[in-house]
Amino acid sequence: MNDLARVDPEIYDVLQKELHRQRYSLELIASENFASTAVLEAQGSVLTNKYAEGYPGRRYYGGCAFVDVAEELARERLKKLFRAEHANVQPHSGCQANMAVYFAVLKPGDTILSMSLAHGGHLSHGHKVTFSGQTYQVVSYGVSQETERIDYDAVRSLALEHKPRLIIGGASAYPRIIDFEKFRKIADEVGALLMADIAHIAGLVAADLHPSPIPWAQFTTTTTHKTLRGPRGGAILCAKSYAEVIDKSVFPGIQGGPLMHVIAAKAVAFQEALCSEFVQYQKRILENARALAQALSEKGFRLVSGGTDNHLMLIDLTEHKITGLDAERKLEAVGITVNKNAIPFDPKKPQITSGIRIGTPAVTTRGLGPKEMELLADIIARVIESVGTAQESSVMTEAKSTVRQICEHFPLYSGL
Ligand SMILES: *Cc1c(COP(=O)(O)O)cnc(C)c1O
Repeated sequence: MNDLARVDPEIYDVLQKELHRQRYSLELIASENFASTAVLEAQGSVLTNKYAEGYPGRRYYGGCAFVDVAEELARERLKKLFRAEHANVQPHSGCQANMAVYFAVLKPGDTILSMSLAHGGHLSHGHKVTFSGQTYQVVSYGVSQETERIDYDAVRSLALEHKPRLIIGGASAYPRIIDFEKFRKIADEVGALLMADIAHIAGLVAADLHPSPIPWAQFTTTTTHKTLRGPRGGAILCAKSYAEVIDKSVFPGIQGGPLMHVIAAKAVAFQEALCSEFVQYQKRILENARALAQALSEKGFRLVSGGTDNHLMLIDLTEHKITGLDAERKLEAVGITVNKNAIPFDPKKPQITSGIRIGTPAVTTRGLGPKEMELLADIIARVIESVGTAQESSVMTEAKSTVRQICEHFPLYSGL
């Protein structure tokens, strides 16, 4: 980093400050994680310099012998990890992976049936502010008001009524198991294709701690930077029969040259994910999520759907008379990073919300365990309950110092 400090002290300063922020705050954003230093090394490498349009062995540029090896390793490892027939590791992000599937199998105006953003779905599943919502007809399903779980009967009725070409199973803020087999049955009944978007739960699926969509979905898309703990990016898995149409859709369909430094870093992350330590890590994510959910419930917080089966939970703050936005800000002020999140049937605007989303993948990477989850629940409860009271500032000061102590006890990137 000596060169960076000399050449660009301003950006060097940003990197130093961000490292400090990551070290001295507790990251509870469910979609974030800390990639290993091996992943960071591969990503910050000379592979940055290489153009490699095309696929291994079929490039439009010379000099690809070595990057071909990297991409082949990434593909093979990813296929092994998910027991899939074909993998494309070039999508620059989760959204690009989804876009590639849409462009591969849909025509403009075709109908998609997907989970609404307001109930935990993702923007790229057809929200009107995105290309997906502007290009396709979108019908949304959600959770039932009573159980706050996906209502598969309602999904089936919508499918029968609207005859979608593509059904999407997958979410960004859904704390329960997703039943991909049920989705496939519904899709088959109406002649639709099924895309599973496992961006959030990929690590759990890889570790066999969440049912895999691979036997059911024609297409599975994922990010590589959430529970999978790799570099920022996306990937697509499918059967051999769809390999060609998917590959063409990614390149030249929607992307140009692949980011070979990121693909090499993906290969490293997939290798890490194939080790037994990774399964242990994913188990600890779940153990921590359960411990945190239980401790928060005991402190009087209502969790959407009553708890969690995966790495995340949604707290409904309605009873606590604080908005998601205010809770996010208060917690950030003591060093706990969360995001405001709509709860199902939220009466408040998306910029405000009645909830926060909390996930355990990043703090689990840091080494925190169930004991610290109880401590975290305690801090969260105290901070939120103190808002607007006479004790507010003393509670905040104390919380800040406890967070700092936890951070010091579980150092992050100590080699950097
Ligand atoms: C995060 C996420 C994405 C998008 O990933 P980006 O890399 O941010 O484009 C897509 N789908 C789901 C379900 C996600 O949670």
